[in-house]
Amino acid sequence: KANRKFHPEDTIVDCGHGVKIGGGNFQVMAGPCSVEGKNLIEIARCVKDAGATMLRGGAYKPRTSPYSYQGMGEKGLDLLLEASAELDMPIVTEVMDPRDVQLFVDKKIDVMQIGARNAQNFSLLKEVGKTKTPILLKRGMSGTIDELLMAAEYIMSEGNENVILCERGIRTFETRTRNTFDVNAIPVLHHLSHLPVVGDPSHSTGYTRYVRPAAYAATAAGADGLEIEVHNCPQEAWSDGAQALTPAQFADAMKRIALIREAV
Ligand code: PEP
Ligand code: MN
Repeated sequence: KANRKFHPEDTIVDCGHGVKIGGGNFQVMAGPCSVEGKNLIEIARCVKDAGATMLRGGAYKPRTSPYSYQGMGEKGLDLLLEASAELDMPIVTEVMDPRDVQLFVDKKIDVMQIGARNAQNFSLLKEVGKTKTPILLKRGMSGTIDELLMAAEYIMSEGNENVILCERGIRTFETRTRNTFDVNAIPVLHHLSHLPVVGDPSHSTGYTRYVRPAAYAATAAGADGLEIEVHNCPQEAWSDGAQALTPAQFADAMKRIALIREAV
């Protein structure tokens, strides 16, 4: 179902609040790694002012260590929904557990994210496949492009064809960056599939200083959108502060992204 052979035209996914992605519609989803509390609305206003059209933020966090901050849970979803209503922006937030999918649906979460660590959690993929909610599906840490496409099939074969693919970097022998951004994946996915493709320069690089160049590369490679972590005070972020852009850095990035979009 994800294969372009049987569906030549680009799929456009409707993310709510009038925001559509794919088929020439380019959207930037930005916000903190984790929802932390009151600063969410402040960050949301900044990213919206700079041109982001979707708000991201994790309420359920897949942390490597069980002793790291695990997210605000349902309270975090409520903060995202408040910001979404106030700013009229759709939200993107990760669902980790099949038992939480119904809660996300009941709360009318605009886009559910499947994180890299769950890219082959087939019971979770099938569960979100039974909903109509758009899914931002991230590539697994060591997942091949074909494995990403098969994960999309798991969702689509259950009836939910609103899938957005996301290249977020893969694990390689390189240690200077958190992951290795596979920019190639963007044109390859567009060749193989009709689904929209988003680049995540934040998790791909892991360091603030490399996020903007990776964002520009993804844009130039034809991505349908970007997912970028932004924090009002990165040194104090509860997760992924080392890769967060400040609102000023994000606004600067958005200007150059617009110029690259004009050029490609
Ligand atoms: C995230 O978006 O905050 C996240 C955890 O991403 P990934 O699953 O790509 O690591
Ligand atoms: Mn993160």
